[in-house]
Amino acid sequence: MDELIRAISKDGDVSVSVISSGSITERARLIHGTTPVVTAALGRTLAAASIIGSTLKKPEASLTVRINGGGPAGTILVVSDYLGNVRGFVENPKVDLPKNATGKLDVGGAVGKDGMLSVIKDFAEKEPYTGAVQLVSGEIAEDFAAYFSASEQIPTACALGVLVDRDRSVLAAGGYIVQLLPGAPEDTIDAVERNVAATGAVTNVLKNGGAEALLESIMRGFSPRVLERTPVEYRCTCTRERFLTALKSLDKNDLDDIREKGEPVETLCQFCDAVYLFDPAEI
Ligand code: ZN
Repeated sequence: MDELIRAISKDGDVSVSVISSGSITERARLIHGTTPVVTAALGRTLAAASIIGSTLKKPEASLTVRINGGGPAGTILVVSDYLGNVRGFVENPKVDLPKNATGKLDVGGAVGKDGMLSVIKDFAEKEPYTGAVQLVSGEIAEDFAAYFSASEQIPTACALGVLVDRDRSVLAAGGYIVQLLPGAPEDTIDAVERNVAATGAVTNVLKNGGAEALLESIMRGFSPRVLERTPVEYRCTCTRERFLTALKSLDKNDLDDIREKGEPVETLCQFCDAVYLFDPAEI
């Protein structure tokens, strides 16, 4: 089961969110038929979006992350609800690239770094809040760290990972976002940096001990207090009614075409591949 844990250090100087999102990532892979490098790119984005989305607090709120680095994978689009349940897709899910110089999946190469990471928080009443930063590497975690540093002015360490098996299924996925509260003492900062270094690749920790083990590793020595523990999943919110509403709002020419052809209209949900069929008379 995937879960998200939010915790704070005893003295309140360090806050952390960790997520184990292996099932979410595997579901995304099965829906979209992604290659390992795209599974990693999408999985990292889903993990970060879930962590940020779960902070929205209002049931009608949603969060959209859009990454477009100009790489062969194209745009990544991920949406989270206020509980951290996520859905997403990648423009070119079948893009494959050789491993990078360090023998890892070349996520930065697939995503590219010539573009922006944008985060849109929609509270369904006021204007949505949009924050955007220039991509740093297209490796996703560094890009989210830059987003937090720039748009929220909070020193942030972020690590995200997806471990893909030989048969292309997802063995583990997830990550963490650690933030230092203003005025955190120098030795606290040093201790966080040591923990980050000692934790190493997040998927190794997640594979063996889940989100709990990752939390312990990042917060070693800080006596963390758990504030929230939430189950999260890949969840699409599409409905037949929503697609019908969209069809009805097509312009007059398109509606006339549908009527003249007289054939059923098929729509496809980009997030979950659900197909809905409509009779022209309905539209
Ligand atoms: Zn759907």
